[in-house]
Amino acid sequence: MKRLSEPPSPVPGGAAIFQRLYTRLGCRGRPPRFEVEFYPYANLMHTIRLREEGAHVRLSDALRGAPLAVLESAAAILLSRVYRRRAPGEILRAYRQFVLLPRTRRRVAALRGVRGSRVKLGPRGSVYDLAPMFTRLNRHYFGGRLHRPRLGWSSRTWRAQFGCFDPALDQIVMNRWLDRPSVPRYAVEYVLFHEMLHVKHPLRAARCGIEAHSLKFRMEEKRYANYDRARKFLDRLP
Ligand SMILES: [Zn+2]
Repeated sequence: MKRLSEPPSPVPGGAAIFQRLYTRLGCRGRPPRFEVEFYPYANLMHTIRLREEGAHVRLSDALRGAPLAVLESAAAILLSRVYRRRAPGEILRAYRQFVLLPRTRRRVAALRGVRGSRVKLGPRGSVYDLAPMFTRLNRHYFGGRLHRPRLGWSSRTWRAQFGCFDPALDQIVMNRWLDRPSVPRYAVEYVLFHEMLHVKHPLRAARCGIEAHSLKFRMEEKRYANYDRARKFLDRLP
């Protein structure tokens, strides 16, 4: 998640796309004022943050020049996440197909080459140690059979993401922001458990992104014992 020096730039027609999909997914209430920009993420990642009246959306700039259907698809994915709506499969298909295109994969690999990096900090944080946490979760939820990727804390605090599994680098990186006493263990474990599910269900072209959450994934995620509590804690964060 290193940033390049090139600045983010507005997505042409981005706000209109999000407004449209907001209605199409049946999200309730008045739509927020959408601000949508292309952002130089190190991978195919997109984020949305709701604040007061507005929604701030960042689409990976790997989507620059992508067909409208792909942008709509990405919008549906993000909106369905924050508003807990189910996006219809036919809307998502354009995005899924796009990420699997050899051209897209080459482009994302190139971005990663420039912007991505291996985790430098190990699993032991100042409060939480990811290694025993992984072992415990693995034993409890995966019968101890899940392959263990490299584990580490991000070297900087991320603003948009709690954790990330990168299949290409075979690593789980957790947002260092979580490594503090005010964050309960069940919330950290939940984020790690979520990333472990990505290890179990890898998508070749999807990296750290949100596109990998199938219905099956979501159901499996709810097996985590403190799921509701953890979601509540994390959703409440500013
Ligand atoms: Zn995920």
